[in-house]
Amino acid sequence: MSDTTKFVLSEKQIPDAWTNVVPYLPTPPPPPLHPGTHQPLGPQDLAPIFPMALIEQEVSTQPEIDIPGEVLDIYRLWRPTPLFRARRLEQALGTPAHIYYKYEGVSPAGSHKPNTAVPQAYYNKKAGMRRISTETGAGQWGSALALACRLFGLDCTVYMVKVSYQQKPYRRSLMRAWGAEVYASPSEHTQAGHKMLAADPDSAGSLGMAISEAVEDAATHADTNYSLGSVLNHVLLHQSVIGIEAQKQMALAGERPEVVIGCFGGGSNFGGIALPYAIETLKGGPKTRLLAVEPLACPSLTKGVYAYDFGDTAQMTPLLRMYTLGHDFMPPGIHAGGLRYHGAAPLLSHMLAEGLIEARAVPQVPVFEAAVLFARCEGILPAPEAAHAIRAAIDEALAAREEGRARTILFCLSGHGHFDLGSYDTFFDGKLLDYEHPAEAIARAMQTLPRV
Ligand SMILES: *Cc1c(COP(=O)(O)O)cnc(C)c1O
Repeated sequence: MSDTTKFVLSEKQIPDAWTNVVPYLPTPPPPPLHPGTHQPLGPQDLAPIFPMALIEQEVSTQPEIDIPGEVLDIYRLWRPTPLFRARRLEQALGTPAHIYYKYEGVSPAGSHKPNTAVPQAYYNKKAGMRRISTETGAGQWGSALALACRLFGLDCTVYMVKVSYQQKPYRRSLMRAWGAEVYASPSEHTQAGHKMLAADPDSAGSLGMAISEAVEDAATHADTNYSLGSVLNHVLLHQSVIGIEAQKQMALAGERPEVVIGCFGGGSNFGGIALPYAIETLKGGPKTRLLAVEPLACPSLTKGVYAYDFGDTAQMTPLLRMYTLGHDFMPPGIHAGGLRYHGAAPLLSHMLAEGLIEARAVPQVPVFEAAVLFARCEGILPAPEAAHAIRAAIDEALAAREEGRARTILFCLSGHGHFDLGSYDTFFDGKLLDYEHPAEAIARAMQTLPRV
């Protein structure tokens, strides 16, 4: 075993292909359905809003897909990302466990999201698009796509959930710096937004509403496509660079993880770090526990139902079979804005239902306690989203201490928290509250699920 703390790869070791778990699964995931006919979706159904290259990746059963050279050229700006052993955190916890983390906050946008924003912008540019529309919650995805569009000379329109637009102005500034136009959603810019404002002029917005606006914008403009930052198969595919690199770095460390952990919003950073390990296991290799961690305030995986539901509030998207809290879900104002989606990646939902991954929900005060302990030991101030993974990694390390045996833990540190200092202040001032999504709200939401 190495006594190194930071494990780096050379530029040449950036993966040259993304890996796809789908061909290795014991049973195929249920297909998306057309929202009108309830029949399995065909490639043509998606063509108005996605380029064919991404639609092909969405349904691909190839084990590997080559990463285009132009995408690799941009990945090189921050990849390979470093992998660290959290030695000072281990010491502070007094645990025999070894804790490793893969740090994705070194990208220009400060999170893992450019790993998919860049190829998505690339394939849209190649398909002759002029503009991409999207939604964003707290602004991480909007800023990643704004960056990627700028690098490929595309325009970018972002519908930003209104409450974040008002309360988190600095990610909006970042998007504007990279040349994106940003609307507070619901907006008067789309019919869907207009209807939502007519129903509730003071609406604070939600991710589901902003998706409706962005999809409508793309569907009604021939030179514009839509882009989604999580949930879909092609997004998980692009994020596999995280796990492929981590496997090489863990080999440098001379260890293999017993448990791999990621925070869970729609599933892209968790899938990114975990699915290459799932492939290893499904190919007959050693078994690795794969643990997704979500907020107790938005517990899709642990309290939602596994059913077909819409991806958005206005019921415009295909029906996806996923763990869902209902497409009308209005998240409470928790401080991990990136983890407030009502649904979950269909691929990962399928794997959870099949027992191939695990899920856990954690309350936000212990999450911030973990974040601050991490910052004081390791230096990096984590994004509140990523701190959910830290909480679970710490709890695994404490369990190892109880058992008095070593255990190797790997987690994805999906981003830094430099734009989340307001949330940290709320925590330091003792004003952060734990909130549990009430069971009645879930029961009510289930009444609105489409009958398939
Ligand atoms: C968006 C975001 C997440 C949540 O999204 P996933 O698709 O579940 O990964 C987590 N961490 C950070 C830093 C994010 O920006």
